[in-house]
Amino acid sequence: MSAAPSPLTPLTGNTLDSSILDEIRSGRLESLSAEEILIWGLGNFHPRMSLSCSFGNPEGLVLLHMLSRLEPSARVYMLDTGRLPQETHDLVDRVRDRYGVEVEVVMPEASAVQKMVREHGQNLFYESLEKRQLCCRLRKVEPNASYLAELDAHVTGLRREQNVTRTDTAKVELSADGRLVKINPLVDWSREDVMQFVRDNGVPVNRLHQRGFPTVGCAPCTRAIEPGEDIRAGRWWWESPEDKECGLHVGEEKDGSGI
Ligand code: SF4
Repeated sequence: MSAAPSPLTPLTGNTLDSSILDEIRSGRLESLSAEEILIWGLGNFHPRMSLSCSFGNPEGLVLLHMLSRLEPSARVYMLDTGRLPQETHDLVDRVRDRYGVEVEVVMPEASAVQKMVREHGQNLFYESLEKRQLCCRLRKVEPNASYLAELDAHVTGLRREQNVTRTDTAKVELSADGRLVKINPLVDWSREDVMQFVRDNGVPVNRLHQRGFPTVGCAPCTRAIEPGEDIRAGRWWWESPEDKECGLHVGEEKDGSGI
């Protein structure tokens, strides 16, 4: 009798090596440094691993800096939602020049965005949580899922202290459906750790950070914050903290619910 299919089969159809799964489950990886985690990821998954870099958070640029030195052909991608500020596009070009990396630009499906805008208008996201989730789903979550379907692992710049929804994030974990390895080397870094690394290594970051933007997402959904204000107040400021996820890093990645 054939064995039941493993729930841990990656989207590429390749079964994850059991020793990798054992390592993830053992918790041993939690003691590794960010760089050691990247070396582990490259050794096990390159080139079917890619860094998710928004070019709107210093965390992604810190990881890009580390990865480009460890493996010049390491893969990096960004989601171009069609609503990003000019400063983010400028940074992509600066990074290409500085590191010589090819940034894989992932875009939403044009017909889906056209239909949404025809039905709900350009700025639907201000009208309700549901419409904001719809926009994030079509412009971010679905293109991201399509891109990741070709991979076995992706690297993120998530940190535990960023949000109430991220406090139990592990350095290496499986996606909600168990089919993709998610590598989060900076989960235990503080914001100051990140900025210190940026200063020490001259890492290029988004110019909007100098103008009070702690993170930079889509232009209409991002703003500068006042000194002392919570860092997440700069994103979707009209929503409550527990709703402030775009759906890329929550369990309900397929439909964007819980965003
Ligand atoms: S952040 Fe705003 S503009 Fe960007 S995809 Fe989400 S709702 Fe749409």
